[in-house]
Amino acid sequence: MNPSEAKARLIHYGKAMLAHNLTTGSGGNLSVRLPADGRVLITPSGMAYSDLTPEDIVTCDANGRVVAGRRNPSSELGFHLALYARRRQIGAVVHTHSVYATTLACMHREIPAVHYLVGFAGPKVPLAPYATFGTPELARAVSDTIGDHNAVLLANHGMVAVGPDLTTAFNVAEEIELVARIYYQTLVAGEPKLLNDAQMDAVLEKFKTYGKQET
Ligand code: 13P
Ligand code: ZN
Repeated sequence: MNPSEAKARLIHYGKAMLAHNLTTGSGGNLSVRLPADGRVLITPSGMAYSDLTPEDIVTCDANGRVVAGRRNPSSELGFHLALYARRRQIGAVVHTHSVYATTLACMHREIPAVHYLVGFAGPKVPLAPYATFGTPELARAVSDTIGDHNAVLLANHGMVAVGPDLTTAFNVAEEIELVARIYYQTLVAGEPKLLNDAQMDAVLEKFKTYGKQET
């Protein structure tokens, strides 16, 4: 993936976040790491996704120094970089304010194994403690909490999803929002019945090959 493809994909998925009700206005942010040189391309701070052009995407090095682009990078550049530094396999980060994941995050609840699709993130979705948006404290909270999971809730804020590429990270965000909605509804309606560790182990094993067509 070259930089101009990456910019086009960031804009495409930024608009898709709005279309799929994963955020509103300029909320949330997205980035990709280029395998060739490790540079990170990220959405600009405070700009509506609907207005973005490729020139608005900001390019940074692994230390957060802006190397190309005239906009300010997302205020959450810190946790994007912290996640890339923590796990070599991460190639994209998607941060949403999707309603049900955020509702649970405002209740300081993790998402347990209430539906097998939580396996898109792992055996559960953990919860990072609250810190002010755009701070090093939030970056530390997110990267210290995610572990091997592919999603994490941000207390009183939202959700972060990761993947080897933008399509995967976006899909994780969408599937986890669905599971968050189901969990919230089971809590409101009564007693959620959770899958046990062995049942989730079986799901995670099947997810290793799910969706990988041979031809
Ligand atoms: P940016 O517009 O700076 O990316 O901030 C949006 C956001 O979601 C902060 O957490
Ligand atoms: Zn946010």
